[in-house]
Amino acid sequence: MTHSYALGVLHGDGIGPEIVPAAVAAADAAARAAGLAPIEWRELPLGLAAIGTHGSAVPESTLDALETVDAWLLGPHDSAAYPEPHRSLLNPSGTIRKRFDLFANIRPAKSFEGGRAVVPGTDLVIVRENTQGFYADRSTYAGTGEFMPTPDTAIAMGIITRSAVERIARAAFELARTRGKRVTIVHKANVLKLTTGLFKSVCLEVAAAYPDVAVDDFHIDAMTVHLVRRAHEFDVIVTENMFGDILSDLAGELAGSLGIAPSINASDTKAMAQAAHGSAPDIAGRDVANPIAIMLSAAMLLRWLAAGHDDPRALDAGDRLEAGVEAAVRDGVATADMGGTASTSAFTAAVVAAVGRA
Ligand code: ATP
Ligand code: MG
Repeated sequence: MTHSYALGVLHGDGIGPEIVPAAVAAADAAARAAGLAPIEWRELPLGLAAIGTHGSAVPESTLDALETVDAWLLGPHDSAAYPEPHRSLLNPSGTIRKRFDLFANIRPAKSFEGGRAVVPGTDLVIVRENTQGFYADRSTYAGTGEFMPTPDTAIAMGIITRSAVERIARAAFELARTRGKRVTIVHKANVLKLTTGLFKSVCLEVAAAYPDVAVDDFHIDAMTVHLVRRAHEFDVIVTENMFGDILSDLAGELAGSLGIAPSINASDTKAMAQAAHGSAPDIAGRDVANPIAIMLSAAMLLRWLAAGHDDPRALDAGDRLEAGVEAAVRDGVATADMGGTASTSAFTAAVVAAVGRA
């Protein structure tokens, strides 16, 4: 059964208008090569440009349009450059994450030939709970998560709920079934006994429904040690919000460079592809930015669509897109941040050509 997909495209700020269209071109080539129906892209205003045209960095019309698409590509935003009051509001990706309850932040760390891996052979995925935990600003009780009872005392709270752990754990175990069939739970249940203890125990309850997936668990501090020494031995790692944020930066750098790290943010019905890096205003508009992170994020999005629609062509398109990026790098085509001389457009052309060859 083959499907046709409508995907949102939100360019965002800085290098966004350069790298997002590069990912669209690469995804189109991959879709073509995989025999997928042409993707219908819907460009939607976001960021500084949208403040100018719509009076908001995340116009309501953009949010409404996202309801009608299957998934979307989000460019980086540079909220620090917005005029007030926009700068002080919740940033564009935070607003979208909240609105669509994108509870799973999925961050792979995969080394590849020509990359700069600290631990070669790394191929793991961090599944980070994205709505609560120890980031007070994201908690269900936002606004009360962090406070100062006196000017000299600051208190932060962490929140873990059974339902939130159940859904993130299911996402991790489902993902593990499609990969190396192993899930590692990361927590700190010896100190944060109630909160991360609940996280651990609910993950283990969910594990019972996946007898085909091996499960183990580590304290967050021990996990950093294991990753540095043997990141290549892990498959899927599930953890709460703050631990996941820190671990995914560590893992991203161990596998290569953070600058090429992809991610998606997903609920059960919507997903948003987003590069791990920022808007890089220092190099914007010069056709030198590296589009790899957003291209690999688009590949993840195609695989996410494939899983939800049981669509082997979308899976093939995602795999071809990733293989095309790897082939271009292997052929020695690289942007300046990776030590090469290729422009964004030249690198994109190399990926499009490689996707067609594969
Ligand atoms: P943010 O707060 O938006 O996450 P940041 O402070 O983390 O931003 P980035 O925008 O990610 O900063 O940029 C950090 C450095 O990495 C900058 O020098 C930038 O030029 C470089 N950089 C980031 N993304 C890319 C890219 N895709 N290609 C090339 N260089 C990049
Ligand atoms: Mg950053």
